[in-house]
Formats: sequence, structure tokens, C-alpha cells
Amino acid sequence: MVSTTLLLYYGLRPVPDPHAVALWQRELAARCRVWGSVVVAPHGMAADLGGPPDRLETYARATREHPAFADLDLRLVHGQGEPRPRLSVTVRDELVGFGAPHELRVERGGLVGAGERLGPHGLHELVATRGDEVVLLDGRHRHEAEVGRFAGARRPDADSARDVLARLDAGAYDGLRDRPVVTYCTSGIRAELLSALMRNRGFREVYRLDGGILAYGRTFADDGLWEGALYVLQERVRVTFSDHPAVLGSCETCGAPTYAHRDCVAPLCRGWALLCNACADFALCAAHRN
Ligand SMILES: [Zn+2]
Ligand SMILES: [Zn+2]
Repeated sequence: MVSTTLLLYYGLRPVPDPHAVALWQRELAARCRVWGSVVVAPHGMAADLGGPPDRLETYARATREHPAFADLDLRLVHGQGEPRPRLSVTVRDELVGFGAPHELRVERGGLVGAGERLGPHGLHELVATRGDEVVLLDGRHRHEAEVGRFAGARRPDADSARDVLARLDAGAYDGLRDRPVVTYCTSGIRAELLSALMRNRGFREVYRLDGGILAYGRTFADDGLWEGALYVLQERVRVTFSDHPAVLGSCETCGAPTYAHRDCVAPLCRGWALLCNACADFALCAAHRN
């Protein structure tokens, strides 16, 4: 596996002209020769980018020069993986595809009705005072949670944000309505949006892990509540926070412990599989194995 550098960030704030912002970002990202995806919506901007560290730094500096994005937290993350070097900058009606663009409201101060923000230390304090009552709710896809998650976290059986919301609306989490719930995800955006959707549906005590697993890993690495590897699905990059990450996943073929996702080798297939080193020589996704 190859070392790679990522820049994952988001900002929720009103963007009066998303198309103009997208034009600027498309030109900037191309000029800096970074790849990945940038999404611009009336509610803000979010990006998963990769590239050499110096080019990502140049891109980050230029992005922060825009007054609307001067406060963004743009820190580089180092991981392992070989993402495909392509760039997409798109305008959508929502930053994360929950399918609820008209429900969520963003003002200059940020998302309206979001859960209370907790930093890594705040999370530890909540768990120390409330103990087992606290529920950590993983707001990511099942494949991301397979190889890394907070100890004891609830994992939605979901392949997309839309699935997570559908399960919420179907009552799958109704047992958590009166418990302290902390939503979390990679960088914090899915957790923040999900926290507002939950509060809108009557969940009484909702928190969100500010800065996501990335912020937690920078603070406590593998010596706190986090276990395993952080898999950045979109970029197919794995991030670990120490030399002793837990190996939580198991090979889809032989069952051996692993945290490595591999792209399916079948022509044109965009699938992947979780495979150990011994089974990775000819990687096939579940659909192509059968
Ligand atoms: Zn195997
Ligand atoms: Zn396949």
C-alpha cells in the first residue's frame, strides 16, 4: 500500500451562489493539481481531496482566502491507499445525500438545531459521568464501521445517508429517544446533520463529535474509546492513529483478521471487498465472487 495525504473538510453556512463557488473551486483544485471531490450546496461546502502535501497546502491557503471560508479547519491527514486521481466539483441541493434538503436549515452561525458539540475530551467526560447510558451512534456506511468504530457503538445497517434517515424514520432508533446519543462520523459533517435530523424527530439529548474521528484520533489515537482503522470510503484510503490499531474486520473469503479494502479487479466494476493479504492477489467483490 502507498502512503497518501488527504484533506477532508466541511463548512455549513449559507452559500448564496453555489455555482460561482463551484467554478472557483474547480479552477483552484485543477490549478493546484489536487484530486477528489468538492460538493457545493446552498448550505455550505464539503470536500474529500488528495494529493501531495505541498499542493494540498497551497489549495487550503487559497480556499481560506475566500472570506466565506476563512474559518475552515483545513488539516492534512496521512493514510494508506491508492485513490484514483480524478477530480469532481459539483453543485447539489444538499452536501450529504440524506434526501432532506428542505428540512435542514443553515444560518450564518451554522446548522440550526444541531446536537450539542462535544470535542474528544468532552466525549470522555460525558462517558465518565453517564456511563453505559451513553450511546455512540455511527453515522457512516457499514463498510466504514466494519474496520473501525468506537467501542460499543451502534452501527446502522446502512449503505448511504439516505438509508440512515430511512431507518431513523422507520423507528429503528426509537429506543434511544431518552438516552444521551453521540453521533459521529469521519470529519463531523454526517454526524452534525444527523444530530439535527434526530432532534427534529424528538430525540431529547443528542450530541455530535465535533471534528469527527479525525479530531478524536489526533487527541487520543488508539488509547481511548476508538478501535481500529478509519476507512475513508470515497478515497479508498485507510487512516490509523498509532502503531497498535485494533484489527476489527475479517476477510470476506477466509475469515482472517484484516482492515484492508481492495478494489474489485473485474473490468469496469466499482465494487470492493475486505480481504486479507493472502486472499488479495485476485480481489473480487461479493457480486463477482458468486
Ligand atoms: Zn483471506
Ligand atoms: Zn466486482
